[in-house]
Amino acid sequence: MCLSHPAFKFAVDKFGKGNVVVLMLESEKRAKRLPYHAKKLVLLFSAMRHYAGQLRKKGISVDYRFCSDSDTAIGEHIAEYQPENLILMSASELGGRIYQQSLAQKFCIPVIQLPDTRFLTGRFDPYPDPQPGKRYVQEGFYQKMRQNFRLLVESDGQPTGGKWNFDKSNRLRLPADCNPPAPISFPPDEITRQVMHEVEIKYKTVGNAAGFNLAVTHEEARLASFDFFENRLHDFGAYEDAMSYQTSTVYHSRLSPYLNLGLLDPLWLSREAERRYIKGKAPINSVEGFIRQLVGWREYIYWQYWRLMPDISHSNFWDFQRPLPEFFWDGGTDMNCIKHVLGRVLQDGYSHHIERLMVICNFCLLARIHPDPVNRWFQSAYIDAYEWVTVPNVYGMGLYADGGLVGTKPYISSANYINKMSDYCRGCRFDHKLRTGDKACPFNYLYWSFILDHEDDLRSNPRMGRSLLGLRHLDRETRCLVQENSLRFLNSLV
Ligand code: SF4
Repeated sequence: MCLSHPAFKFAVDKFGKGNVVVLMLESEKRAKRLPYHAKKLVLLFSAMRHYAGQLRKKGISVDYRFCSDSDTAIGEHIAEYQPENLILMSASELGGRIYQQSLAQKFCIPVIQLPDTRFLTGRFDPYPDPQPGKRYVQEGFYQKMRQNFRLLVESDGQPTGGKWNFDKSNRLRLPADCNPPAPISFPPDEITRQVMHEVEIKYKTVGNAAGFNLAVTHEEARLASFDFFENRLHDFGAYEDAMSYQTSTVYHSRLSPYLNLGLLDPLWLSREAERRYIKGKAPINSVEGFIRQLVGWREYIYWQYWRLMPDISHSNFWDFQRPLPEFFWDGGTDMNCIKHVLGRVLQDGYSHHIERLMVICNFCLLARIHPDPVNRWFQSAYIDAYEWVTVPNVYGMGLYADGGLVGTKPYISSANYINKMSDYCRGCRFDHKLRTGDKACPFNYLYWSFILDHEDDLRSNPRMGRSLLGLRHLDRETRCLVQENSLRFLNSLV
């Protein structure tokens, strides 16, 4: 929330600064909807309180309410201030928008609802009239966004560097002697320390608030961006998919919590990254990869959320019914990759995108877990996760529960991929090369068992051809063993 929040800007332009009261609500009911990560609540509440302080310093009246529920607080505000209008920025999620639309009738007051400026699709929609059931792939969406916003696009309309996508250059494993610099940290000030204390005593949370070191203002979030541009952007591309014991961030930006709160603007970040390429400070594969995350994936996911809700949030293409294993809440598993990723998430509410997709979601898909608890777990545990992010990512990309409307294939892999892209398999009690037996990596027998059980569905997807070819090397005895091992493993999950 920088000072140019659209509702605030609109109200000041229309009614004058002296006639505007900014209403901000810390709703206990909303914060207790799920057991959220303690650091997520601290980030949200501290950013809100800092923003309120900044507005007051500029002479703006702020009515900051701590409430058990929003209805009561809005009613009390209206009774006390008698406003002529309520002016809002549209919520990023369906439930929030439906609630906003109910306010006019509920409180008998005109409501002005403005577009959500945290996303570029509010400024340009690449497919303004999408067809139901049609597949819209990320790559086409991304190119249209790049062309519209003139990002890494030459004067003749061609992509800078001759290609729209440099993903093939972005698949290196992190060398053993490589130590990516940790992101800049922001020691908590008095406001944040107070929020940390309140969160610890008031809420049932995932993880705890101790060690909170994130940016909580627009200015600090900008510093976090400059830290990324200076220290990690250069190598971001090459190691974008790498996973390692040594570092949770690798060369990632870790700016998504700030973007999703509105502390940073995606177009500003993209242009700053592009500037680094033009000045020769970062290679094209890194800058293009970063811009693809922002104006490609982030916007595409948001666009798909609004296109496919609410049906996608009830989808379960594979008809999986298994509950989420308990170890997702305490990290108690012998599977090294999962243990490390969960450990980080429980500690800091963060792991990077490949760990989310190819470790956590890959496991949940192969272990045939119902998408609903997976979706709730992501929303609870990750500091940057909101419904608009998790629904298309979990039901779509991660678990293919939508039958392929968001992703073009089920993202499944055996231990081979995790071993290729990480150092997690070293020292794991399981052997990443074994397909069957007590020491075999569960990702291996779960993978083959999944392919055997869903062969017909997978055959209809041309992108699964290579995986299915592997079946030719599985003799009858091995097929029986992978099924037996999988069944035993799945039955042991609690
Ligand atoms: Fe994960 Fe399997 Fe590798 Fe262990 S061997 S770290 S369980 S992929």
